[in-house]
Amino acid sequence: MKIAVVGAGPIGSLLSLRLLQKNKEVVVFEEDEEPGIPAHCAGVVSLKTLRIYDLSFSQRFILNRFRGAYIFLPGGHVLHVARREYVACVIDRVSFDRELSFLAEKKGAALMLGTRVEDLLLNRSKVLVKTGKRDFCVDKVYLCEGLSRTLTKKLASLKHRPLVGVNIDLEASTSFPEDHVCVFISKKVSDRLFAWLIPLNGGLVRLGLAASSNVAKRLSYVIKYATAKGLIDSLRKISESAGLVNVDGPLPRFSFLGDRVIVVGDAAGQNKPTTGGGLYYGGLGALLASQTTSGRDYEKAWWSVCGRDIKFMSIFRRVLDNLSDRDLEEMLKRIDLEELSQLFSFRADFDRQSLVMRSLMDYLARQPLGSLLLILKSLIVSLLA
Ligand SMILES: Cc1cc2nc3c(=O)[nH]c(=O)nc-3n(C[C@H](O)[C@H](O)[C@H](O)COP(=O)(O)OP(=O)(O)OC[C@H]3O[C@@H](n4cnc5c(N)ncnc54)[C@H](O)[C@@H]3O)c2cc1C
Repeated sequence: MKIAVVGAGPIGSLLSLRLLQKNKEVVVFEEDEEPGIPAHCAGVVSLKTLRIYDLSFSQRFILNRFRGAYIFLPGGHVLHVARREYVACVIDRVSFDRELSFLAEKKGAALMLGTRVEDLLLNRSKVLVKTGKRDFCVDKVYLCEGLSRTLTKKLASLKHRPLVGVNIDLEASTSFPEDHVCVFISKKVSDRLFAWLIPLNGGLVRLGLAASSNVAKRLSYVIKYATAKGLIDSLRKISESAGLVNVDGPLPRFSFLGDRVIVVGDAAGQNKPTTGGGLYYGGLGALLASQTTSGRDYEKAWWSVCGRDIKFMSIFRRVLDNLSDRDLEEMLKRIDLEELSQLFSFRADFDRQSLVMRSLMDYLARQPLGSLLLILKSLIVSLLA
């Protein structure tokens, strides 16, 4: 069986490796000349995620490990969440993507770099993969084209627009522990997500955010805020990158044209609605797509493994989207931050967030009526939207 994989991002390469293990003939199309470039991702993943991509392989790309976070909230509140053990890390995404795709090539995939797939056409029981250079006839196509979604949007109706994400790497020293990240939540920072400050190795920090508008303005605000708080000093910019971020959940379907086209990873919206991170749920998507033969089975398997957490995260996202800074500040005034921080420290799982969210709902339900009403208000607004 001849298979085309569109996109040599982490999901396309992981999927290719798994399909090769099943003795499939795999051709990978990548529009860029070099996989991983241009960079776009902050690269923060749980240590659990590395296992999906094969731990011994992924460990080589770790730049720093984390066991906690400082979460800066409206009204000057700061939530400190920490574990004894390391739970997450930041990886060098450029090298990670490059090495993963070269590994797939080494194991037998034909890697067509600098080759953009322009269109997919049904040709009896085959699919014609049209590139600017020549056409290829294959039995099945796995679309791992990321959030550019040029081909996916010809097959599926896309309701939501992704956010714009930016990262800048700075030479700076930090005043907070190196095994922590900082997260900034406020509508000034992002209308739909948050900003991050990630210590890398060798005196570098990565500062970034994702929002639906005014990204440059918001970024300078975060730089000023982090500097004023004394979190970082001396800002020498080393590099910057940008990309799209999905927080609106998965597509309703992952399989098209009678199972001949299967969508995986960011293209399928397999991201966490709370953070936009796609390496965990997209990685699971790649594994499950390689293990199932029909599109229906793949969809069922993905929803049964990931659905519960994704649904909880989507509700949480909608609530946060509809809470103003003032609402959040009012709520935070009425709750015990120390108790909240304990709850997150003990219950939070970087990827599987339904448990901590259920605990959070139980916790909030025990709080004074005022804060509960604020949440109910935002829930109703989001359900009506
Ligand atoms: C600012 C930012 C920060 C992020 N931070 C994190 C994070 O900390 N943790 C995390 O888990 N996730 C994070 N993400 C999300 C993460 O980067 C994605 O989930 C991940 O890259 C998805 O992998 P993918 O292979 O599906 O898509 P991509 O990595 O986008 O790869 C798709 C590939 O397909 C190629 N392609 C597209 N169209 C075509 C075509 N027509 N023909 C040929 N090739 C094509 C592209 O060139 C690209 O190489 C972040 C994203 C952004 C933008």
